Amino acid sequence: MTAGVSDRRPTWVEVDLEAIRSNVAAIRTRLEPGTALMAVVKADGYGHGAVAVARAALTAGAARLGVATPEEGAALREAGVTAPVLVLGPTAPEQWPLVAEYGLEAAVADAATAGGLAAAARQQGRVVGVHLKLDTGMGRWGLLPEECDRPWVEALLRGRLSPWLRPAGLMTHFATADAHPDPGTRDQLARFLDVVERLRTTGLLPGCLHAANTAATCRYPGTHFTLVRVGLGLYGLYEDPACPAQRPALRWLSRVVFAKDVPAGFAVGYGATYRTSAPARILTVPVGYADGYRRALSNRHEVLIRGRRYPVVGRVSMDQITVAV
Ligand SMILES: *Cc1c(COP(=O)(O)O)cnc(C)c1O
Repeated sequence: MTAGVSDRRPTWVEVDLEAIRSNVAAIRTRLEPGTALMAVVKADGYGHGAVAVARAALTAGAARLGVATPEEGAALREAGVTAPVLVLGPTAPEQWPLVAEYGLEAAVADAATAGGLAAAARQQGRVVGVHLKLDTGMGRWGLLPEECDRPWVEALLRGRLSPWLRPAGLMTHFATADAHPDPGTRDQLARFLDVVERLRTTGLLPGCLHAANTAATCRYPGTHFTLVRVGLGLYGLYEDPACPAQRPALRWLSRVVFAKDVPAGFAVGYGATYRTSAPARILTVPVGYADGYRRALSNRHEVLIRGRRYPVVGRVSMDQITVAV
């Protein structure tokens, strides 16, 4: 699959869907028996194209999809994707109708969202599956373990908050599963298991439990539960000895459009932040920060030309970079 970054310049990205399929298959071989894989395709599939990545991952055995927003889920449905889709992030009132309309599932961590989703589901005549999101140590978005005995939580998990909400899952998210050494995952897992046990004894445990991102999936089999939520690993972007070898799925390509030979002491680019120390050849490549080539990479990045690395010199411009060879 090729996507044009610009239709006016010879700059494009190539996404290797075979690499996505192979990464999914490799990770699946590491899952505990009975654990399913959710392919996380938020932010347009980490920039790779959500619909194409979703289809490739499902072909390779992913059972579900994860997105950040209802709009992302709606776009998958509009493209004909029918697999279960969970909205992983918080949702706002104006997004609740989309969740029901497009048959998505949603994570919830507060009573107002649960109530709003129930109202939207009733209005659309469509039951919405909800996953209770616990904050076991990420410190970002989620219900604290000690808040799990609130009446609305119990009502939700009993299926009594509304006939239009189906208690579908219990989830948490790890903050440090990729850290070496890892200061927090063990504690987070213990807190999650504690809630799981409490809910099990009261008969309130939902059927689907999930916690692991790519790093936890690779490093901690004890976090697999019903489902693992894999993003980075799909795209070949999580490197760790504990992970199966992955294939990067994206290449960003362009062409050299200009070359000039310059003497020593020659200033290059905005701000004259680079000066040649010896006679050099400076190449112009038509990609810049308007394309997402970050300006912060000025004078501190490299490009591959015919397999060799060359430094990006001078500031990254809006639509050009300069390279010294
Ligand atoms: C983005 C996200 C993931 C995937 O994380 P990776 O590190 O990319 O595998 C999993 N769970 C949640 C809740 C997320 O937001």
